Amino acid sequence: MTKTNPFESAMEQLARAGEKLSAISKQPSAVKNLLEALQFPQRIVDVYIPVVMDNGSQKIFHGYRVQYNNFRGPYKGGTRFHLQVSEDEVKALAFWMVMKLAVVDVPYGGGKGGVIVDPRTLSQGELERMTRSYARAIAPVIGPTVDIPGPDVNTNETIMYWMADEYRRWKLGSLDDGKKEEKLWAVTTGKPLDHGGSQGRHDATATGALFVFEKLMSKLGLKKGATIAIQGYGNAGYFMAKFLHTAGFRIIAVSDSKGGVYVHEGIDPEATMKCKMDKGTVAGCYCKGSVCDMRFGRTIGPEELLALPVDVLIPAALENAINKDNADRIQAKAIFEMANGPTTPEADEILAKKGIPVIPDILTNAGGVTVSYFEWKQNMDGTHWTEKEVREKLKKVMEKATGEVWDTSVKLKTTMRTAAFVVGLERILKADTV
Ligand code: NAD
Repeated sequence: MTKTNPFESAMEQLARAGEKLSAISKQPSAVKNLLEALQFPQRIVDVYIPVVMDNGSQKIFHGYRVQYNNFRGPYKGGTRFHLQVSEDEVKALAFWMVMKLAVVDVPYGGGKGGVIVDPRTLSQGELERMTRSYARAIAPVIGPTVDIPGPDVNTNETIMYWMADEYRRWKLGSLDDGKKEEKLWAVTTGKPLDHGGSQGRHDATATGALFVFEKLMSKLGLKKGATIAIQGYGNAGYFMAKFLHTAGFRIIAVSDSKGGVYVHEGIDPEATMKCKMDKGTVAGCYCKGSVCDMRFGRTIGPEELLALPVDVLIPAALENAINKDNADRIQAKAIFEMANGPTTPEADEILAKKGIPVIPDILTNAGGVTVSYFEWKQNMDGTHWTEKEVREKLKKVMEKATGEVWDTSVKLKTTMRTAAFVVGLERILKADTV
């Protein structure tokens, strides 16, 4: 299999949308300038992170913070701890944040961070020291009105709390006004509720994706009871499975990095998660109702899951899952991208020819960062919103963006991805920065 560089994919997506936008825009030179500017991140911060390990030796980890573009507001984007992290991966993820935030009209620019590490190999103490060391290394370039990291793959609310706390400690050394202290927690989002977090953040990505799903269901010919396969069973994949199951859909296959399961009658997402917590993987968790038993299902490989004849396929793991080598085998009627960058541009072309609509990442998974914005706003204003308020505000944002992307794709006779990019680019143009 050829390896696809996610940043090259991102730039190809930009070029495709740029072509469409240039053909219809009344400001061709502004479009040209923007398309050129968006080919480069404004700043790449490379950090080397010293960490004292439990055995007393020191290890240096390598990480990044990419501040891609701030035309619409402070940089904003997640933090990934994974061995696959590279400069080009973080650049691609940061660029997609720029576009995503413009699609949902949240007043931020885009950024992303990452550390090359497998956190499963670290003790809790080592993970905390590494996180704090990373936060210290990027502290001079982040801040509540500058760049606001959030969670991503292998990072969670505890890690977001450590990062904010370390930043605060670093910053307070140079502050003499105690009143400013509270607002410093706004430097990260996705924090625990008792440390400045927001109601509804932990499952916001899936909640937002469900609003997109419900808004598009009838347009895509999907009905209650439709079958679903989900690749990736972490924050995004698990909560989406849970919400779709509750809404009356049948999740017939799920997988994680170690394996997958197929249960014809549909898995029980919560029992499957409990089983995963015990075993460390969903492999072997054939859970129907609250009972997990071999008789209910069978093991499924990663490629077989993607090629199942389901109604909806949901990639919720990493980039490049759907590529030119497997796109032709996909039989799903629609693909909802919860992961960032799961479909390569070559696969997009194949899927378009097959007539399989792809609901793009920069729309489908934008609920997470939208509630991150709500958290930041509450921190900055010193307010606390109820779960109901958060949910209602999120629904409004996601439904509006979904309607705009759908209408644009119909009007321009193009894919939902290109339409989402066009919606985002038009909004960035309005920022009127040059
Ligand atoms: P996570 O760390 O909670 O879960 C990732 C899951 O993917 C794990 O179950 C892991 O085992 C699985 N996985 C990894 N490689 C796999 C493979 N080759 N095949 C099958 N499964 C594999 O991460 P997450 O937060 O759920 O993020 C998943 C995706 O969603 C990422 O692309 C992330 O950028 C995107 N996303 C997450 C959020 C969020 O708020 N968490 C928001 C927007 C987008």
